[in-house]
Amino acid sequence: SVFEYAPAPESRSAVDIAPAYGLFVDGEFTDAADGKVFKTVAPATEEVLSEVAQAGEADVDRAVRAARKAFTGWSALPGTERAKYLFRIARIIQERSRELAVLETLDNGKPIRETRDSDLPLVAAHFFYYAGWADKLDHAGFGANPRPLGVAGQVIPWNFPLLMLAWKIAPALATGNTVVLKPAETTPLSALFFADICRQAGLPRGVVNILPGYGDAGAALVAHPDVDKVAFTGSTAVGKEIARTVAGTAKKLTLELGGKGANIVFDDAPLDQAVEGVVSGIFFNQGQVCCAGSRLLVQESIHDELLDALKRRLTTLRLGDPLDKNTDIGAINSAEQLARITALADRGEAEGAERWSPECELPSSGYWFAPTLFTNVTQAHTIARDEIFGPVLSVLTFRTPDEAVAKANNTPYGLSAGIWTEKGSRMLAVANRLRAGVVWSNTFNKFDPASPFGGYKESGFGREGGRHGLEAYLDV
Ligand code: NAD
Repeated sequence: SVFEYAPAPESRSAVDIAPAYGLFVDGEFTDAADGKVFKTVAPATEEVLSEVAQAGEADVDRAVRAARKAFTGWSALPGTERAKYLFRIARIIQERSRELAVLETLDNGKPIRETRDSDLPLVAAHFFYYAGWADKLDHAGFGANPRPLGVAGQVIPWNFPLLMLAWKIAPALATGNTVVLKPAETTPLSALFFADICRQAGLPRGVVNILPGYGDAGAALVAHPDVDKVAFTGSTAVGKEIARTVAGTAKKLTLELGGKGANIVFDDAPLDQAVEGVVSGIFFNQGQVCCAGSRLLVQESIHDELLDALKRRLTTLRLGDPLDKNTDIGAINSAEQLARITALADRGEAEGAERWSPECELPSSGYWFAPTLFTNVTQAHTIARDEIFGPVLSVLTFRTPDEAVAKANNTPYGLSAGIWTEKGSRMLAVANRLRAGVVWSNTFNKFDPASPFGGYKESGFGREGGRHGLEAYLDV
């Protein structure tokens, strides 16, 4: 398949990282107006990877003006022409996937096997998918001649830096909008490589602008009066702040926020498969996944059997150098995130849940957290309620499907859930009662660009991916 092309890129030397990077505004790399820079660090080693220009309010203004100017030409292009650029970008991503995978793994800390086999193929697939829509918007079910909104201000997190960029930029460009995107402060590099790919693809100046920086740059972008559409992925707290900023303006808003997904395992589930799904549900990307299956709801009758199998499986996970293609568990993205995970896990123990980790030696430098599971967890425990965003699984039990549904829904979030059962009728009945934007059955963490993704409740609103993802960027 065209999406499974990536060679094994386990080598650090696969990518040239410059000692310094600028902001990408109006087709050029430039310094920040006030000359500020910040360092980006490899979380696995604490090695400084590069020094990056730090956007401030004046840069946001400059980038939004460039995007506004570019909008006139870009939105007037026939869809077939916009599609050509998106196809070209998708192909260059494939061609440069080795560089991008190594770069993403270095800057983020996630295992190269994941960047190579999940992130990069999905990034390319997303651009291919939306390239296909660019000349078919009249047939997307929104009526004739749907119009782009204008300038999209997009703010993304660090857990899937390039994939979140793809989820934001591909549909925006396909629908004729122009973009100013702010990557997260701990993972700016793949977005800056993407800027270079835009140049390589000959994308007209100003159509995509990339502003590395901190939350203040994100806040300035969201508040900028000439931004028509705000798309944010990140924490629920910041999402609420953004909603307040946008309230009372004419801006359109979509939010992809946190989650506390339940993975529900019934007693008739294929056990080995369920164990694999539970493990990937919470330990994929060190659990730093908004749709992670961070609560395991296991039917009481198979609790002990499942936990034994789960613990056996966890002892086989390999933690270490993210660039080693045999690594299962990489580094935590930042010292702050590690501190947050540590505090919540300690709280779980203090509140009386039982903590278990496989024996595993943590590297002496970098940010690391051993895969952890908590048993004897009740719904009142903090670890059963708060998003940990780390490799920590809370195990709860249930007796009946009703109880499973009630517990799964007992959270302010509503992003994802998983159901493990051989019984199709039960699977459908339970799925229909779960208040979650994504429900997987007998699998977990499966993504497809054709499938809309997004939350219920405090996990946000709007959908990314699929035909639904177009709507967030169109006036219909
Ligand atoms: P965060 O909210 O702290 O930061 C996300 C982005 O927002 C960063 O680029 C940051 O610089 C920026 N930001 C910070 N303060 C801002 C402000 N006041 N105004 C505008 N922008 C601001 O989140 P994080 O810690 O980087 O990411 C983890 C969170 O993201 C988790 O809660 C996770 O669930 C969520 N997430 C959700 C999804 C989803 O699709 N629902 C996907 C990935 C991550």
